[in-house]
Amino acid sequence: MSDCIFCKIANGEIDSKLIYEDETVAAFRDLNPQVPEHILIVPKKHVAKITDFTEEDKNLAAHIFVDVVHEIAKKIGVDENGFRLVVNTGEDGGQTVPHLHVHLLGGRKMTWPPG
Ligand code: AMP
Repeated sequence: MSDCIFCKIANGEIDSKLIYEDETVAAFRDLNPQVPEHILIVPKKHVAKITDFTEEDKNLAAHIFVDVVHEIAKKIGVDENGFRLVVNTGEDGGQTVPHLHVHLLGGRKMTWPPG
């Protein structure tokens, strides 16, 4: 989508601290990190929110959660100690950027419940 900031980052039109990229997925450091390691994982194609994933996106969704998360966790060194994945969805979910993104949060012990 032409005016979507995460589409622009994923397509390389806007600079980011890219940490992972393949044909269908990009991941980059959050501009305003909430924890020592705060990565955003996005599909390159525009999907506004997780409930907009369709049947044809099943491979993409599995790729993100099976392959990409693990690879990034290893790369930034949080795979052994652990990390948190968050997908804020819609207004009540606290989603501020309408392009599906998985927050990978790590580098310190998390608390629960979130705010
Ligand atoms: P959410 O509130 O779940 O929609 O998360 C959006 C996240 O995107 C926030 O953590 C922002 O700090 C982050 N963000 C917004 N613009 C950028 C950008 N240009 N580069 C990196 N992260 C961004």
